[in-house]
Amino acid sequence: MKIILLGAPGSGKGTLAKQISNDFNIPQISTGDLFRAAIRANTPLGQKVKEIIAGGGLVSDDITVTMLKERIEQEDCQNGFILDGFPRTIPQAEALEKLTQIDAIILIDLDFDVIVKRLSGRRTCPDCREIYNTNSHASDTCDKCGAKLIQRDDDKPESIKNRLEVYEKTTSPLINFYSDRLFKVSGEGTPEDTYRPVKTYLKSLEG
Ligand code: ADP
Ligand code: ZN
Repeated sequence: MKIILLGAPGSGKGTLAKQISNDFNIPQISTGDLFRAAIRANTPLGQKVKEIIAGGGLVSDDITVTMLKERIEQEDCQNGFILDGFPRTIPQAEALEKLTQIDAIILIDLDFDVIVKRLSGRRTCPDCREIYNTNSHASDTCDKCGAKLIQRDDDKPESIKNRLEVYEKTTSPLINFYSDRLFKVSGEGTPEDTYRPVKTYLKSLEG
């Protein structure tokens, strides 16, 4: 099954993608994670996108589509995948249509004020990549591996504002682009609350 997750930054796409990935046994492909890995490894791609990402802007469609294409051509994507953070622009969606056929498009719906709170409190483990929130996790070290948690550059206030503006202007038109085949779910509850209806929906597609 090939699935797209849509939703503003901080709406919970990554969390939902992981649950789907586990249950349906398909890889989660996060273009944000791929870019961050390239930045950590200091590859030419990483060097090219570092500044843009830190500021909360979008990487060019060219670079992003090329990277995504290479990823979905890999062996582990034969039975499907979940795209988390792609497409983010209409040209990316058009490019994707030429690459493959998508079975399900899920939109996580969440108010911007909730999103700002979540993103500002988000902390990541630099070693095992686990994600925490200061609202629910008071300690500044990772429960799993003990590393000191860090805040992503683009989770700092100025970049959050920019990301939400970019989402509104450039990414939210995708909701219209896919309107006739969108499955909408509220992102307000717990991760389980969000996942439950999605799981039922995806099972019904599997038939
Ligand atoms: P979030 O969903 O929390 O904003 P991501 O990890 O999905 O974070 O993305 C982080 C950053 O990576 C984005 O702000 C953007 O700069 C870049 N990025 C990720 N996916 C794309 C994409 N499909 N097109 C362009 N830039 C992207
Ligand atoms: Zn850790």
